Amino acid sequence: MSDERNRSDGHPENESDGNFIRNFIDQDLAAGLYRQVGTRFPPEPNGYLHIGHAKSICLNFGTALDYRGTCNLRFDDTNPVREETEYVDSIQADVNWLGFQWQGETRYASDYFERLYECAETLIKKGLAYVDDLSPDEVRAYRGTLTEAGRDSPWRDRPVAENLDLFRRMRAGDFPDGAKSLRARIDMASPNINMRDPALYRIRKARHHRTGDRWVIYPMYDYTHCVSDAIEGITHSLCTLEFEDHRPLYDWVLAALDWPAPRPRQIEFARLNLEYTIMSKRQLRQLVMDEKAGRHLNHPIEGWDDPRLPTLAALRRRGLTPEALRLFCERIGVAKRDSWIEYYWLEKAVRDDLNLKTPRVMAVLKPLKVVVENWPHGRSREFEAPYFPDEPDRELPGLKDKTRPLIFEREIFIEEDDFRPDPPKKFYRLGPGREVLLRWGFYLHCHEVVRPAEGRGLELRCTYSEEPRGFGAGPGGQPAVIHWVPAASSIPAEVRLYDRLFKTPRPKGDLARELNPDSLEICRQARLEPALKGLPAGRRVQFERLGYFIADEKLHRAETPTFNRIVALRDRRQ
Ligand code: ATP
Ligand code: MG
Repeated sequence: MSDERNRSDGHPENESDGNFIRNFIDQDLAAGLYRQVGTRFPPEPNGYLHIGHAKSICLNFGTALDYRGTCNLRFDDTNPVREETEYVDSIQADVNWLGFQWQGETRYASDYFERLYECAETLIKKGLAYVDDLSPDEVRAYRGTLTEAGRDSPWRDRPVAENLDLFRRMRAGDFPDGAKSLRARIDMASPNINMRDPALYRIRKARHHRTGDRWVIYPMYDYTHCVSDAIEGITHSLCTLEFEDHRPLYDWVLAALDWPAPRPRQIEFARLNLEYTIMSKRQLRQLVMDEKAGRHLNHPIEGWDDPRLPTLAALRRRGLTPEALRLFCERIGVAKRDSWIEYYWLEKAVRDDLNLKTPRVMAVLKPLKVVVENWPHGRSREFEAPYFPDEPDRELPGLKDKTRPLIFEREIFIEEDDFRPDPPKKFYRLGPGREVLLRWGFYLHCHEVVRPAEGRGLELRCTYSEEPRGFGAGPGGQPAVIHWVPAASSIPAEVRLYDRLFKTPRPKGDLARELNPDSLEICRQARLEPALKGLPAGRRVQFERLGYFIADEKLHRAETPTFNRIVALRDRRQ
């Protein structure tokens, strides 16, 4: 096993000097700029939240908590065509599930449409905004490039009265989509392209999920965001690095409006990129909606909560706890430089969180039948096995006892993988003539491998003993310890094993082709130890030697138990 402290690649980037965002805030508070810290989490309701959003949520809500300030939830719902109330509901549920509560009511940028409109008129009256007749393509052509200045629109110097009249008529619906736009009048030669007369409003005759048909013009993100922050009294507007070049515009708009102090301050941080998955609502939506993606998978994506996805809904269904996600976010820290985080760090946080709180039980995923020939027909015996072997006195709410009985019978199942008819080097488990120890039970000595009938699987003929007989194959003749379940009294179950969503660590291009076809393996013949009878959906357990599992919220029933593997016990690359 590699020592995780030696890992250098993809290591979380905890800034050695602490959180640079805190430094900014501390400075601002020391300078007396703000009385109380106010942050906000501003999702666009165009899809389900993913683990990248969890980082932003933990940062925004966490900062507010640390400073005894407040954090708002504000939907950035300025794009009427992509947004749906389904997403609004799921996003609120996800934030709550992560363990956070926003200040007061849920807010919406659309609550401020009237106010934003008035501010736009103010800018027009000050000569700082104008109605442009250029088409979107022409606007692009006039904008220039990184190396070349842009050109002024022929409509840039319209008189204020004409601009006001046209803008009012835009609002009244007098012009078709794209025929006109309202632009800030800044500087077409600015080295920062975002400052070359950016659009403030566009015409979009589309129904909005909250304002219905009331508006046919919609404010642009950059304009909406800073004004909404200012309206809500946000002090620190934390956003991802791609907005760094937009900060001058953020500040320009509020200055142009003479917004009274204290104005909000935008601070950028690196977005989370996690290997073997993607962090974009738009791309995730494609995977969920596009049936073609399914062709590249042995089992198609089942929806937004398919446990292979990085959405919070999926991670919840997969069995991750909010504590594990918060731990992960805390460990990866907040940096100013973009980086990719190794998947290992998510799994490690999950294991560290579940290790202490999940009871250990046994299940066999791919059963191999063993007949214990020196055990009498029809007889059974119970072994008492602790749920928490390292802390046998530990009690867990919801579990009746600290131990459960394990039933031993003449026929048992062991894991197919724990037996080899012809064991290779370093395979210490069962083989012909070899001995293993059944966890919490007897020693088992294999004498014969038989195929009872054509078309049926192998069966092992073994004998048991209470003491080892010296046929162990491990170092020093030690018998390996393996898990098992009784054949007749075990419970049939379906167990789903998940692997990386993508084959490549940094998927790009045609994403469907990058999907890992084996990202889901379904074990339909699995068997659970009898104590798991009646386990309710949502309960987590460790199956010894196999990993942490959860009874699936959607599919699990007492009569058809269905489990998801949350994570294996070890990093498979170690
Ligand atoms: P997506 O491309 O997935 O839609 P987005 O940035 O457009 O992402 P928003 O709904 O606008 O999604 O995001 C809400 C907040 O979450 C924003 O402040 C955004 O910066 C932040 N955020 C989004 N993705 C990440 C990420 N991968 N890591 C950290 N923060 C993120
Ligand atoms: Mg977005």
